[in-house]
Amino acid sequence: MKVILLGAPGAGKGTQAKRIAADYDIPHISTGDIFRENIKNNTQLGLRAKEYMDQGLLVPDELVLELIMDRFKAPDCKNGYVLDGFPRTIPQAKALDKALEENNDSIEYAINVDVADEVIIDRMAGRRACLSCGRTYHIKTLKPKTEGICDYCNSNLVLRDDDKPDTVKKRLAVYHEQTQPLLEYYDKKGILYNVDGTGGIDKIYNDIIRIIEA
Ligand code: AMP
Repeated sequence: MKVILLGAPGAGKGTQAKRIAADYDIPHISTGDIFRENIKNNTQLGLRAKEYMDQGLLVPDELVLELIMDRFKAPDCKNGYVLDGFPRTIPQAKALDKALEENNDSIEYAINVDVADEVIIDRMAGRRACLSCGRTYHIKTLKPKTEGICDYCNSNLVLRDDDKPDTVKKRLAVYHEQTQPLLEYYDKKGILYNVDGTGGIDKIYNDIIRIIEA
């Protein structure tokens, strides 16, 4: 099964993608996580991506495509994947389609997790991330067992630079301009599904499952 989760930054794609991945035994591929991992490890790719990420801008398509096409070659992708944060531009979506078509393959579901901008700005200000393992929490809705500490690796939780309100506003503007056109792109292909991203995490997940299992 090949699924794309679409939606603005902070819509909750990552949380839902992790559950889909676990329940369907397919990898959760987040380009944002891959970039953050590279930044943590001080790789060339990380250094190049960080320049853009810190400003709330998208990393250039060629850099993203090089990385993602390489990721698709890994054996764990043989039964599909759930994509979170990719594609984010029309050229990325077209490149993905082309790569899949070469193998007579295609994306089955593009699921848009729909959340209004104001809700996102509020949510992201409360988001806390573990820079060691990449897990994210929320000070109100997804609290760690001990305040400020990651449940899994005991590292300190921080407000990521790209979750700070000014950067979030910039990221939302970038989303509306460059990523939102993907909704129409996938709608035309007949594979776009919308879910309301403002209910509880379980309700949103059930809505997604209903689409995938239909
Ligand atoms: P995310 O965690 O998905 O919100 O991604 C964090 C940041 O990584 C974004 O604001 C972009 O700067 C960069 N990024 C992640 N995925 C992509 C992508 N598919 N295309 C361009 N930039 C990306």
